Amino acid sequence: DAKGNGRGIHRHFTPAMNEATMRWQELANDIHMACVNGEFTLYYQPQVALDGYHVTGVEALLRWNHPVQGLVLPSVFVPLLEELGLIVEVGDWVLEQACRQNVAWQRAGHPPIRMAVNLSAQQFYRGDIVKSVRRALAVSGMDPQWLELELTESLTLDDTEVTIQIMNDLKALGVTLSLDDFGTGWSSLSYLRRFPLDRIKIDRTFMSEVATEPNAAAVVQGILSLAQNLGLGCVAEGVESREQLDYLKRQICSEMQGFLFSRPLAAEDVAQVLTHAIGPRRIGDGRSDR
Ligand code: C2E
Ligand code: MG
Ligand code: MG
Ligand code: MG
Repeated sequence: DAKGNGRGIHRHFTPAMNEATMRWQELANDIHMACVNGEFTLYYQPQVALDGYHVTGVEALLRWNHPVQGLVLPSVFVPLLEELGLIVEVGDWVLEQACRQNVAWQRAGHPPIRMAVNLSAQQFYRGDIVKSVRRALAVSGMDPQWLELELTESLTLDDTEVTIQIMNDLKALGVTLSLDDFGTGWSSLSYLRRFPLDRIKIDRTFMSEVATEPNAAAVVQGILSLAQNLGLGCVAEGVESREQLDYLKRQICSEMQGFLFSRPLAAEDVAQVLTHAIGPRRIGDGRSDR
């Protein structure tokens, strides 16, 4: 590569960094092709009622079917999509695909369920998220009441007034809003007060400790009663064990999501969990979804 281009970064390259940069570059090229070739797909992880274990909704989780590497997880490629400015385009595809799938399940005769879709900050501030959501609802024919948009805390670092305005515009479409990974950021509590949220999702780092750490158990109990007092719904994320489930059953929490009940599933595998209550057994174990 050319040196002395004035930016001074090449001076600090080590062989290891060069290799990492090349891998990144390769993945960046691949992901452009992925957009062109339609290599993205959605998996759906059930959310289950603590009372009766029926499926109340699913969360759409993006997967990249890489031609060589196989199924790639979003922790690897979502940051890449964000860095390359492709997340708005791919995010629009996710919204439309998720809405179409939700309608397809209903048309197949399944009772309606919620469809949760993750949004990244760039979709909020660089794209026109209100227009994207309106469009996805229109082309799919989905009833907005079943669409839930999951926002993460990083999203709310930007201008609060603008954020609240967009949230209100989204709510005016008839969709609901949830705050993902709740409790992991510094400002969680002030967000609850200021943003027009419908639900919170308790981060799985808390859930991983509730059965063994009295402090974690106390924190989750506090979050749950706070949510109830604010009139917010709640989903516990990352429920993996019977002990975590037993803990939750003693709390005021109505829904959970986690490997104890089901891993994220391909669309064709969701139908079976929509017709039967799941029960705390692992569905989709041994699959290659993560
Ligand atoms: P998230 O929104 O918090 O999604 C939940 C993640 O936790 C998923 O990982 C899910 O597979 C995993 N999970 C669920 N239950 C359990 C459990 O019991 N134990 C453990 N260890 N993990 C569990 P996944 O699918 O790899 O997604 C990671 C993150 O990538 C998501 O976190 C979300 O922030 C992001 N993401 C996924 N799909 C999209 C998308 O379409 N758009 C955007 N912008 N971000 C996405
Ligand atoms: Mg999420
Ligand atoms: Mg989460
Ligand atoms: Mg997350």
